[in-house]
Amino acid sequence: MSKYKALIGLEMHCEISETNTKAFSSAANAYSSLPNSNIRPLDMGFPGTLPVVNKEAVKMALMTSIVLNCSQPKYMYFERKNYYYPDMPKNYQITQETKPIPVGIYGKVTFECNGEDKTIRINNIHLEEDAASLDHLFDTSVINYNRAGVPLLELVTEPDFHSAEEAVAFLEHMRSVYRYLDISEADSKKGQVRCDVNVSIMDEDLDENDPNNWGTKIEIKNVNSFGGVKDAINYEIKRQTKLKETNKYDEMEQQTRRWDEETGTTIYMRSKVNAIDYKYFVDPNIPKFKITDEWLEEIRKSIPMLAYDRKKKYIEEYNLSSYDAGILVKEKAISDYFEECVKIKTDIKQAANWINGMILSYLNANEMSIKDFFMTPEMLKELIELIDSKAISSKQGKDVFAKCLSDQKTPKQVVKDEGMMQITDEAAIMEIIKEVIDENMDQAKTYNPQYPKILDYFIGQVMKKSRGKANPAVANKLMKEELEKLVS
Ligand code: ADP
Ligand code: MG
Repeated sequence: MSKYKALIGLEMHCEISETNTKAFSSAANAYSSLPNSNIRPLDMGFPGTLPVVNKEAVKMALMTSIVLNCSQPKYMYFERKNYYYPDMPKNYQITQETKPIPVGIYGKVTFECNGEDKTIRINNIHLEEDAASLDHLFDTSVINYNRAGVPLLELVTEPDFHSAEEAVAFLEHMRSVYRYLDISEADSKKGQVRCDVNVSIMDEDLDENDPNNWGTKIEIKNVNSFGGVKDAINYEIKRQTKLKETNKYDEMEQQTRRWDEETGTTIYMRSKVNAIDYKYFVDPNIPKFKITDEWLEEIRKSIPMLAYDRKKKYIEEYNLSSYDAGILVKEKAISDYFEECVKIKTDIKQAANWINGMILSYLNANEMSIKDFFMTPEMLKELIELIDSKAISSKQGKDVFAKCLSDQKTPKQVVKDEGMMQITDEAAIMEIIKEVIDENMDQAKTYNPQYPKILDYFIGQVMKKSRGKANPAVANKLMKEELEKLVS
């Protein structure tokens, strides 16, 4: 019933965690090691040092740019954003502003939110370096320069989100993209993802395609978790709506606020009216370099199918439920395992059930990656076929699964070693059935085909005698025939 709608734009910073070295220096890109152990003179702003662009980081940035359907530049430039802060000894951050164009501009991306597709526009994506990390202890602050110079991707969206749910669904989508592309774990718990969240509200019946109708932008800085993004947006929408309703909204200035996790509120930091001028200029120590079409093409070809497309494919081509497909694509390695099963012609539905059920619980329980999982897709196929061909029952299948993993044997080997092969031979089963009937003749004679409940008891006896190896379907069929013969 709200008279207002929210416009939300995100600035998502994601550290690239998968390069060996930093963005412009040869120090290791691993800031979780001993504090201040991964530093080169450049990271400390020592005189005489020169930045060298990390090609791998540029490649990853271009990959992301392509995936987000952005235009890529013909030449790569970097700029200096000038300001002083103890976490940045060079006194400037190497980054890319929109002129000349960064790694990517004007893209769009489609993601899933509550089961529906949503498309938003990307304003730009650029590559920059992270600052060092500061820890504030009681009355001291300590600096860890391991993070200084770590490559960082900043992605700026247009204000196309209308709710916290949409914004968070987008962030989850991007986390999946970064993981599938092997660019970053994008783990906000490790501080790898940080967001600035921009929120305004406008009258619901006005046209949002006309920026003149937009409300005043409030920027919330450095929100460090997806939960924080959600809460900050919801809080800010409520706060701004109240201002509207008390006629105070229009006199509000553009401002920067910060999210306070403890109180669950946003707190005023500064007005944005006199925005800081960072005096950007192209870094003269980094020669511009050409992004060739050949290189872009090579990068394009190396991009794997992403979770969003895989999920659609699993639903449309493999007839899996949206729920099952969703679980399969959560992690690329799992999805790759599943696709390998499909490739070697395993029954698709059953492979999906095994992976989403037994395999994922096993991996979770053992905190293991599927990359270290003993059972290969070939073995899973073998197991599924043993059950399908009724060589073993599906209950036995679970035991074989466990035994495979504990003894590091193939399913066939386990079945053989444990003597688990089901008896499907009719003559062999018939022999057991005869014995069971003989031993329970009185009851057998009470068999009534109209009320065949007693059949369960007889089958139970057959299973007992065969130590669970008689094929239940065959036993059932034969036992029924025998009992019927007896009483007819
Ligand atoms: P600045 O120059 O202040 O950084 P930008 O125009 O670069 O502002 O926009 C920064 C972010 O704010 C972008 O994500 C953009 O989508 C978002 N944004 C811009 N205007 C609004 C608005 N009126 N309401 C909400 N978000 C906005
Ligand atoms: Mg900005």
